[in-house]
Amino acid sequence: MPSPIAHLTAAYVAQRIGMAYPPYPNGETPHFGRRLLLTTATFSILPDIDAVAGLLAGDFARYHNEGTHSLLVGAGLSLGFAGIMAWRRRGFGFWFLMAAGCYYAHILMDAATPGRGVLAAWPISNRRFDFPLTLFYGLHWSDGWISVRHIWTVLTELTFAAVTALVVFALDGRKGAGG
Ligand SMILES: [Zn+2]
Repeated sequence: MPSPIAHLTAAYVAQRIGMAYPPYPNGETPHFGRRLLLTTATFSILPDIDAVAGLLAGDFARYHNEGTHSLLVGAGLSLGFAGIMAWRRRGFGFWFLMAAGCYYAHILMDAATPGRGVLAAWPISNRRFDFPLTLFYGLHWSDGWISVRHIWTVLTELTFAAVTALVVFALDGRKGAGG
C-alpha cells in the first residue's frame, strides 16, 4: 500500500476533474468545491479503514488489506453515498462516479505496490490481485513506526504529489488561457 500522501494526491486530481464537470449550475451550491474535496479525500482513504481496526487491536497485519479493498464493497458504499447526496438534489451519477472512482483508484494503487495483493473480488473470490506494474515504493508498515525505509516512502510519494500537482496546474492554466 502507498501511504496516505499518494492516496490524497489521487483525491486532489479527482476533485479537479469533478470541478470541471459539476452536476449543478454555477452558484447553486456555494460549498460544492469543499464538499467535493471532502468526498474524494474520504473515499480515497476509506479502504484503509481496516488499518484503524488493526491499530486499535494492536495487530495491524491481521486486519489490514482484507475485504474493504473489494470492488463490490466500494460499489456498495458509493451507491449508498450517492443516494444520500442525490436525495434532495440531482447528481446521483456524478457523486457515484466521484466516490467509486476514488475508491477504485485506491485499490488499483495498492495493487501496483509491492505487497500481498488486494482482495479485489471479495466476497466472490479470496484471490489476491496484483497489478503487473509496480508504480509505488509503498509503506512498509511491518517495519514499525521507526524505519529508514519510511523516509524513502515519504520522499517518493512527495515527488509523486509534486509532479501531479504541477501537471494539474499546467492543465488548469492552459484551460484558463484557452477559454
Ligand atoms: Zn489500502
